[in-house]
Amino acid sequence: MKLDGRTPGGPLAEKWDRHRFELKLVNPANKRKFDIIVVGTGLAGSSASATLAELGYNVKTFCIQDSPRRAHSIAAQGGINAAKNYPNDGDSIWRLFYDTVKGGDFRAREANVYRLAQISNQIIDHCAAQGIPFARDYGGLLANRSFGGAQVSRTFYARGQTGQQLLLGAYSALIRQVAAGKVQMFPRREMLDLVLVDEKARGIVARNMVTGEIERHQADAVVLCTGGYGNVFFLSTNAMGSNVSAAYRAYRHGALFANPCFTQIHPTCIPVHGTYQSKLTLMSESLRNDGRVWVPKNPDDKRPPHQIPESDRDYYLERKYPSFGNLVPRDVASRNAKEQCDAGKGVGETALAVYLDFADAIQRDGKATIEKKYGNLFQMYEKISGEDPYQTPMMIYPAVHYTMGGLWVDYNLMSTIDGLFVLGEANFSDHGANRLGASALMQGLADGYFILPYTIGGYLAGTPLEDVSGEHPAFHDRAEAAAARLKKLLAVNGSRTVDDFHRALGMIMWDYCGMSRNNEGLETARGKIQQLRQEFWEDVLVPGNGADFNQSLERAGRVADYLEFSELMIIDALARQESCGGHFNEAFQTEENEALRDDENFCHVAAWEYRGRDTAPGFHKEPLAFENVELSQRSYK
Ligand SMILES: Cc1cc2nc3c(=O)[nH]c(=O)nc-3n(C[C@H](O)[C@H](O)[C@H](O)COP(=O)(O)OP(=O)(O)OC[C@H]3O[C@@H](n4cnc5c(N)ncnc54)[C@H](O)[C@@H]3O)c2cc1C
Repeated sequence: MKLDGRTPGGPLAEKWDRHRFELKLVNPANKRKFDIIVVGTGLAGSSASATLAELGYNVKTFCIQDSPRRAHSIAAQGGINAAKNYPNDGDSIWRLFYDTVKGGDFRAREANVYRLAQISNQIIDHCAAQGIPFARDYGGLLANRSFGGAQVSRTFYARGQTGQQLLLGAYSALIRQVAAGKVQMFPRREMLDLVLVDEKARGIVARNMVTGEIERHQADAVVLCTGGYGNVFFLSTNAMGSNVSAAYRAYRHGALFANPCFTQIHPTCIPVHGTYQSKLTLMSESLRNDGRVWVPKNPDDKRPPHQIPESDRDYYLERKYPSFGNLVPRDVASRNAKEQCDAGKGVGETALAVYLDFADAIQRDGKATIEKKYGNLFQMYEKISGEDPYQTPMMIYPAVHYTMGGLWVDYNLMSTIDGLFVLGEANFSDHGANRLGASALMQGLADGYFILPYTIGGYLAGTPLEDVSGEHPAFHDRAEAAAARLKKLLAVNGSRTVDDFHRALGMIMWDYCGMSRNNEGLETARGKIQQLRQEFWEDVLVPGNGADFNQSLERAGRVADYLEFSELMIIDALARQESCGGHFNEAFQTEENEALRDDENFCHVAAWEYRGRDTAPGFHKEPLAFENVELSQRSYK
């Protein structure tokens, strides 16, 4: 298989315009003849569903939650990037493009990233017109703040609730289309499998999570907007329902999985505080605009923070990276926090934390200003930790947060299965080996509002599709297989809970495939995962039955997929014998312990093909050409 990214020709800045002109169109009257399935109602799925329906397509939208607006996107806190240059501080489309390519350690497709930067400005106009209550400056223009990996302020925000406000906008647009009869909404449905007819995606099999019924849904194209798979680590900042299953099912049917080992570990999360914790909480990167990160200089210094004088503190990010200071990208900040803790300078009871201190900012700007910017985040921190961050520094530690890997897509956002499009965090997307803060919301909305509505038309207009109903044998087969799998999970009737297996898997992944990796550890992890997978199928306990609301059964299916998918992550990490962004292999580092890329051998997207459960996956590579940005060693000094 030769991977064709279908990147259009011509100058970088003109590619998207030119491509849109060259794409075939579906005429307005014909759009109502096409059915499109959208799985997921986060920012990517809601924006796609609403826009496709507005264009005239018949849309069927699915989500796990009881309401589309409870999708994980609602948790996004800090903001969304755009190259508006409102602060007049030197931003431009080119700079956003450059920062994103560099931030991702040169492992993303140039043309996609440039298009993302171009569209970023349209997103802000669109969302402002929807009424999203973005923060404003004294003159009434939308306000901006800074995020990591950038020296300009380009992040638009609505306090610490940007995702919630953006999702309410997309949700409103979606619900308008539900009322207009153009979107049929299927909440509390879990997609269990993808259905292919003549090698094209033609529908899904879903479980009604309340009644247990297995349903068949047919369409002319399927759009997956099912989010990221950070929960493979068990503990992450993701919503509990985030999972890999829909993407993994598509992978099993021929959609290649790209860069699965690229995981983002976010530097500022509330540290783990107990063995039975099931969720981690993010403290938004926006806090690093004003918060200063430090540890005691002396590992033996156990004084409370306010008793440690300036001279005995190490503001290590400001010291090591004077240009970017506390706003270095996430991978760099996370590794540095780990390094400090490994050197014995960690603080708090577990010594796996560093301080994020607002004392200087409060003294400089006043408590009211800080409260206005971050009030809800401070409140959240206090509720969880019992400490008041206005009085004492926050304690933070890195945690799994986002997955840059995902299903491989071409410039049209189509996977290697015809008619299967993948949007938002579920695709391998535009962030390379490390996503810059506030770029996920931008990408999800770019995909849903502005890219897919063009590219899916090109596919539908240019592809002959025969009528297919849910009675087609392919639907029958997939529905039977999905039901049989649920039955098998229930039949094991062992002694260990699903969560017990999930926690064990998470620990393996965190220890061996987390912030830093080495070949020996990765090999060890592979063996441990295989062993755990076997134990799962011999000893998992799933109470209840399949004909009812059964959360253990739902989770069991997802963990079973994680137990296979995690091995793919390990295989990918082992194959990439370099360090880049979030993938840090200890054997490849500079003298200053920064990630050391090998552009000669690894300047590519690694895309994996499923070849059977007990067969090694096939490896495909999409070479990355950098024609507009010079490949260089990343430096934030
Ligand atoms: C705490 C937190 C804060 C963040 N803050 C920011 C920020 O400030 N700025 C930023 O840019 N990014 C931020 N991010 C990242 C960003 O929120 C996500 O990457 C983004 O929201 C993902 O959107 P999505 O639409 O791709 O998927 P999601 O919002 O994850 O939605 C996935 C959807 O798919 C559905 N689904 C999944 N599997 C199935 C299935 N099998 N069947 C049916 N439905 C299914 C779910 O029900 C859901 O509706 C943050 C992330 C976290 C965890």
